[in-house]
Amino acid sequence: MSESTVLKFGGTSVANAEALGRVASLVRRAQRRTRPVVDVSALAGVTDALFAAADAAANGDVEGTRPQLDALLERHAEIAGRLARPEGASGIGTVLERARGEIMNLLERVAGEPERRPALRDEIASYGERLSAALVTAVLLAADVPARYVDARHCLITDASHGRATPLLPDTEQRTLAELAPLLDRGLVPVLGGYIAATLEGVTTTLGRGGSDYSAALVGAAVAAREIQIWTDVSGVLTADPRVVPGARTVPSLSYAEAAELAYFGAKVLHPKTIQPAMDREIPVRICNSHSPGDPGTLVTTQGEARAGAVKAIAHKTGVTVLQISSTRMLGAYGFLRGLFEVFERHRTVVDVVTTSEVSVSLTVDDAESLSEIVAELRPLGTVSVESGRAIVCVVGEGLRTTPGIAARVFATVSDINVSLISQGASRVNLTFVVDEARVREAVLRLHEALFERQRVDLDHAAAVAP
Ligand code: ADP
Ligand code: ASP
Ligand code: MG
Repeated sequence: MSESTVLKFGGTSVANAEALGRVASLVRRAQRRTRPVVDVSALAGVTDALFAAADAAANGDVEGTRPQLDALLERHAEIAGRLARPEGASGIGTVLERARGEIMNLLERVAGEPERRPALRDEIASYGERLSAALVTAVLLAADVPARYVDARHCLITDASHGRATPLLPDTEQRTLAELAPLLDRGLVPVLGGYIAATLEGVTTTLGRGGSDYSAALVGAAVAAREIQIWTDVSGVLTADPRVVPGARTVPSLSYAEAAELAYFGAKVLHPKTIQPAMDREIPVRICNSHSPGDPGTLVTTQGEARAGAVKAIAHKTGVTVLQISSTRMLGAYGFLRGLFEVFERHRTVVDVVTTSEVSVSLTVDDAESLSEIVAELRPLGTVSVESGRAIVCVVGEGLRTTPGIAARVFATVSDINVSLISQGASRVNLTFVVDEARVREAVLRLHEALFERQRVDLDHAAAVAP
């Protein structure tokens, strides 16, 4: 199949009529150069609202969810009324009415069938992306783009881990291609919802919050796209989280390894699993701003760009728990670490950062759901201490491989902040450490200043005095 490009639009890129107008012009423009596949998130706030309704239903208040449900359906109707053709808007009206009945029915079941809640929650959440994709299709048709709605659950196939399903790659690839290739060959533009998928038996699943980016990468890999574009509300991957560092600026290029580390350690702009499918196929990932399409964004490729001394960005992640397991039985013993990590595996809990000494292991987890069971099972291995309320800070750059002195600079900058765990070198592109959550903003702000702003002043100065 020749040259397609996946365009993924996040929640704020499809939040309202103005945003959807921009999406239509971006897709029309893309059509001149490539065969677009459009992957959309739910309208901003809709997934949260659907989960809030499911929670209320679980607490027995199904009727109380009605006003919120009506409001979110009305948002779709209002946009269709403004941007779709009359027949498109009336088609959306029918889809919304059917959805209202089905969602209410699912909410009743949430109240009545507690054992089926994880599956029902996925089914309820899936309406966000299904309705968004139907709406975007109608809007694109009105803009003369030959769009075609595709049910993503016919493409993305996963295991049955509701809320955080894992894709079955061969099935996903084969079905995505079978669904999309005939449409692309006819010059049509497929539009599918991100985040949602189904098991081989057809039961709806989801890929985890923020998972639409991952969907886009899976679809891109399946159709061997020439590029995967993530259209969001900031101009690419920035040097730090802009909610903490208002002066953060765009990083023009990243290697896959750098992007993966940043996403994994908290840069919300990319779902952590997005990079792998792209990297496996060497498909470039471009992150762009749908609110300001002229801005250069970030391009993620095999090479990235390894400038000497380059630290590319700082990521951070709060809500982290540190566990320390100490035991003299570790001394000279083999099999100890295996036994330890098997505990985490049994509880399907991901370990992020690990450090070891002769007699102790420190590690971090951000999913504390099974913490008390994990701690109980670790106790026979040694003394276990638990510190919650921690945060991970991660400094990323291919330049870390080759530039001496960065660690010294980083720790000098945060020398008065207690650092409880340090890891450098595992991937050779990151330096990761743990601080108290209460001080993480300060740590990130100061590091940004030291690693980017002061450097900028130096560079500006050098440019000014250059002959
Ligand atoms: P979308 O709805 O388009 O998927 P998200 O809210 O999931 O958008 O991701 C974009 C947000 O990620 C930005 O608005 C920003 O607040 C946050 N973010 C955190 N770290 C970074 C970073 N390093 N670069 C860019 N954005 C970041
Ligand atoms: N709508 C989903 C969420 O809010 C998926 C996504 O936006 O990527 O998590
Ligand atoms: Mg997102």
